[in-house]
Amino acid sequence: MTVLLCGPRGFCAGVDRAIQIVVLAIKKYGAPVYVRHEIVHNRYVVEGLEAMGAVFVEDLSEIPDTGQPVIFSAHGVPKSVPEEASKRKMFYLDATCPLVSKVHKQAMRHNAKGRHVLLIGHEGHPEVAGTMGQLPQGAVSLIKSVDDVEIFEAIDNSALGFVTQTTLSIDDTMDIITALKKKFPAIAAPSAESICYATTNRQEAVKAAAPGCDWFFVVGAPNSSNSRRLVEVAERVGAANALLVQCEKDIPWQDLNGSHRIGISAGASAPEVLINEIIDSFKRRFKAKIELAVTAIEEEEFRVMRELRDVPLTNSDMAFVNGAG
Ligand code: SF4
Repeated sequence: MTVLLCGPRGFCAGVDRAIQIVVLAIKKYGAPVYVRHEIVHNRYVVEGLEAMGAVFVEDLSEIPDTGQPVIFSAHGVPKSVPEEASKRKMFYLDATCPLVSKVHKQAMRHNAKGRHVLLIGHEGHPEVAGTMGQLPQGAVSLIKSVDDVEIFEAIDNSALGFVTQTTLSIDDTMDIITALKKKFPAIAAPSAESICYATTNRQEAVKAAAPGCDWFFVVGAPNSSNSRRLVEVAERVGAANALLVQCEKDIPWQDLNGSHRIGISAGASAPEVLINEIIDSFKRRFKAKIELAVTAIEEEEFRVMRELRDVPLTNSDMAFVNGAG
């Protein structure tokens, strides 16, 4: 059996930065540090941070007025959230990924130019709520599919602009953008690509490795948008079976007998320690040969905010922040 391990996979620079922010804030300000929403969509990471002293909440109203910091997750938040925090004189740190903030700015730029904004994305995802919440009610319409383009009616066809969620399927999004441009030829594109480098690179790596695989496993959480897109990509390019797994226990080991080629990748919020457990299990059970399938090298790094730059990270903090343990 050959196991193809995709690269890039797992943690991206935005996830890495968000986890660093929580770890550094706990070190600097002491526990508890409140985090609004799962800092990144992964239970292993969330539970690890809880053990260090993070308390996860869904709403600011759950946080007592003790002066302890609150951190906003990497997915971004509507403007109403920092406004409410300021009103309550809360000390907040915003761990929104800089690439999500870039999409917020693109949406605001369209709005400032008098355009109605079409946001291509998935209903209910916190990033979508955050981007829609940058603009006044009614200024943004959510477009989930090509069918939505068909039924969308604009008040002024010459005053439209679009942006996208950062973690979408590149191919599906291209279909939606093509449909938008066909129906509204004057629609303005964002000044730069909205789908992020990490989403793009992980999908390209899966496209290269998945064809011909008997099974393709993506390590990630069910609420992780970019992980679910990787499963869809693997299926589309020809993996016989593709499955989202959270950890080694989710792999249907009994069904793998007779398989020759297995692919593995991981969404941007899945720590490497979970992938290593799976690889070890493959080696033990099948004497598998592990091959790397690398399509890009990532060097992106996002710095934490100034308030936290004076806090040192120990080796064990670093291992956790990097997903290694
Ligand atoms: S997946 Fe992309 S947008 Fe999301 S945190 Fe990572 S780099 Fe940022």
